[in-house]
Amino acid sequence: MDLKHEILQKYFGYTTFRKGQGELIDAQLSRRDVFGIMPTGGGKSLCYQIPALLWEGITLVISPLISLMKDQVMSLKNSGIPAAYINSSLTFEQIRLVYRNMVSGKYKIIYVAPERLLTEGFLQAVSQVSVSMVVVDEAHCISQWGQDFRPGYLRIGEFLRQLPCRPVVSAFTATATPEVQKDVIRLLGLESPYVTVTGFDRPNLRFEVQKPKDKAAAVCALLQERKDRCGIIYCSTRKDVERICDLLKSKGLSVTRYHAGLEDEERRRNQDDFVYDRCNIMVATNAFGMGINKSNVSFVIHYNMPQSIEAYYQEAGRGGRDGSPADCILLYSPGDIQTAKFLILHPSENDMLSPQEQSFILEQDLKRLDRMVAYCKTPSCLRGFILEYFGESHGSTCGNCTNCSQETTEKDITLSAQKILSCIQHIYRKLEYYIGPTLVIRVLHGSKEKRIKELRLNELSTYKLMENIPRSEIRAMVESLESQGYLHTDPKHGGIYPTEKAREILFDGGTVSMKVPVSDSAPEVKEIKKATAASGFDEGLLAVLKALRFRLATKANVPAYIIFSNATLQDMVAKVPQTQEDFLKVHGVGRYKAQQYSDIFLAEIHKYLNSKA
Ligand code: ADP
Ligand code: MG
Repeated sequence: MDLKHEILQKYFGYTTFRKGQGELIDAQLSRRDVFGIMPTGGGKSLCYQIPALLWEGITLVISPLISLMKDQVMSLKNSGIPAAYINSSLTFEQIRLVYRNMVSGKYKIIYVAPERLLTEGFLQAVSQVSVSMVVVDEAHCISQWGQDFRPGYLRIGEFLRQLPCRPVVSAFTATATPEVQKDVIRLLGLESPYVTVTGFDRPNLRFEVQKPKDKAAAVCALLQERKDRCGIIYCSTRKDVERICDLLKSKGLSVTRYHAGLEDEERRRNQDDFVYDRCNIMVATNAFGMGINKSNVSFVIHYNMPQSIEAYYQEAGRGGRDGSPADCILLYSPGDIQTAKFLILHPSENDMLSPQEQSFILEQDLKRLDRMVAYCKTPSCLRGFILEYFGESHGSTCGNCTNCSQETTEKDITLSAQKILSCIQHIYRKLEYYIGPTLVIRVLHGSKEKRIKELRLNELSTYKLMENIPRSEIRAMVESLESQGYLHTDPKHGGIYPTEKAREILFDGGTVSMKVPVSDSAPEVKEIKKATAASGFDEGLLAVLKALRFRLATKANVPAYIIFSNATLQDMVAKVPQTQEDFLKVHGVGRYKAQQYSDIFLAEIHKYLNSKA
């Protein structure tokens, strides 16, 4: 085993590198500058953390956000790697302590905000240590072409020139169009860097665009199907955040909110509630999320269309970071274009820019908005549209977005069809006319709305007959029955009625089926599903281990995923380790974590197995 694999196993508990990681690490180890463009969740951090551990001296990581640094440092410490961060969240005294520890060689990795680089205190501390490497995380922030331009990043070049000895410089980002890539290399002064673009594709993300008439109802329906899962709902405006958050709260959902208009204290508390799994759903503006590494986010719903594909992909990409399947659903309405334009024309940041710079940015923003709208309207593969935008080639279909002719399978729906048809007949007998499909679906689902009571449709024996089936599914069945000729809609009045052919199902013992998508068609997703669905996978044990993780996390005051990721707990349930040695073989368990947690987890597993025996 070579050194980089040893470190990978020892500190992180993984056995193989992901795409791009090995090559990037080798290039850095041969003291070459690198620029890694890898998708969110692709594992960029390991690419610089492993060389940092192999070298003498300190690695400095420049990172744009306080929360990002805090998260990374927590995670490193929990894996037994000495690290610290320096940013404005620390007091003067705390910063001095970090400088002292840094000079005495206590840390391997230090995260620092770009604004700090050229300050006297920092330069002084840095001059007393040997800096092996400077890493620029979220490197796209240096470019005005990017949507996250941060003027502070422009100081990095100057900082590098001030160092007595030029270290290896590594840059990483997930979102970089070809223009942004050129900017990063030029502005950071990377010297003939090893550049790798591993591809932007995230096969475990499923893309969907909906155009609902009533977005609030659509959100509620989506959440109904995703109970107990963690997810983010992005809204364009603070007002919408408030409204949707209140609505979901009133439905008894575990929800919190985040936007720039809240007091710092509340923002921090709400963010923590979400990150630490005390709340399942976060409703937020785009102020939320950069630097949130929470790995168990299983859906990201956009209540409004964002302003650019970059922003969309970055926000949607906060789902499924540990590689498990996640849904990225955009609720589009034409009004979103107006909101987006308004926000583009009234930017809140970047007052440091000259008028020329501002008008340049405005022009770019409007072009980006145009592509975003095109995404919402494209009839072709949604994933393909995104990949193409980032200059990546792709196949004609991905099989894991709504626009692709998804892999389908025939499902027998005879019983449901009988319910639907007889409900329509019952309604007709009562009213003596046929009503539209939406109302039929509501009767079947047991809606309490006024119109149903007025028409006394709640008195029918078929009322609520399909209350356990989501409305969207009932609608899909009604549409399928219509397309197969069992139902017909009167074009004039909009009433839907059974055709002659419907007799086959109702009276002649005929059967009917419909095509339903097989959602596990993307390769990575298939693998995961297979792993969890493997015979003997014990959901009860998973719940017990999750509860233990939550208790340990609460005690240590860290987010649950810092202890172990969902992927790790799932592997633990699959492997059911009995000994220390077994425990070390679990995906994501390094030596340090095994020391910390093996006893307590093994005991819990033991207890669980005994209770079942
Ligand atoms: P990003 O590229 O978005 O910065 P991170 O570095 O935060 O991604 O990594 C995302 C997740 O992937 C983390 O939970 C990390 O532990 C995991 N990961 C990284 N590399 C590997 C690997 N080689 N094998 C398994 N998991 C990995
Ligand atoms: Mg990262």
